[in-house]
Amino acid sequence: PSITRGVTVEIPKVSWDDIGGLNDLKKKLKQAVEWPLKHSDAFSRLGVSPMRGILLHGPPGCSKTTLAKAAAHAAQASFFSLSGAELFSMYVGEGEALLRNTFRRARLVAPSIIFFDEADVIAAKRGNGSSGSTTVGERLLSTLLTEMDGLEEAKGILVLAATNRPHAIDAALMRPGRFDLVLYVPPPDLEARYEILRVHTRGMKVGNDVDLRQLAEETEHFTGAELEGLCREAGIVALREDITASIVHARHFQTVKSSLKPALTKQEID
Ligand code: ATP
Repeated sequence: PSITRGVTVEIPKVSWDDIGGLNDLKKKLKQAVEWPLKHSDAFSRLGVSPMRGILLHGPPGCSKTTLAKAAAHAAQASFFSLSGAELFSMYVGEGEALLRNTFRRARLVAPSIIFFDEADVIAAKRGNGSSGSTTVGERLLSTLLTEMDGLEEAKGILVLAATNRPHAIDAALMRPGRFDLVLYVPPPDLEARYEILRVHTRGMKVGNDVDLRQLAEETEHFTGAELEGLCREAGIVALREDITASIVHARHFQTVKSSLKPALTKQEID
């Protein structure tokens, strides 16, 4: 439920099991998130400052947002979600106020994760845009830097950011104590595609003729989002064919698959 315009807060319900593939990444993220959020006292005991920010980068539709949510779920942390593009489009001063307000609220209900989607929009390299837009971006970025530096005293708050354009992120954000960890979220390989198809057919009635292994082989270059769409659409095709249908068959998956073109190009994957 939304409490402030532009921010939603909740403890997400999605879990690590809802994400197919990416096992090593899930492990790394799990540790990186759970340690500072759950054991912040242990860090202060040793005089070690816990991680404050994690940057997830990779092509669209490959579970960056879902990973951030699963991390919050695992740590039972409140999840504050902000969109870089939305902040950027707000009236003068409104975006900065929302940023500060979000950090304040996150402190109140810690443990919290603050998630920035399209982070490159507000964290773009300084001084290389058109004059008007640079000013808005610069102010947002400097507010974000101030808030992140202020996390030193705050316990149980972690900032996660997602971008498709990691090279556009300002170097100031990549210094230690800001985004300490950078993780690449790759498009799914064969095994991951199989796992993703399994996740998204878990709740469906699929016929014995549906071979998910083969389907995974036939969906090279598909993103997780596209595989999810494929499963859902197959169900719709089955119902369109017969509204009393109780099983989704292989031919329904095939019909959808042949009408889809994966959005990722080979170049983006390499
Ligand atoms: P964007 O960069 O466009 O914001 P994203 O990388 O954040 O994309 P998500 O929003 O997490 O991607 O994923 C989009 C949809 O695809 C989600 O509904 C999610 O369930 C599904 N999805 C993507 N990857 C996976 C995966 N590995 N396992 C299961 N579902 C996946």
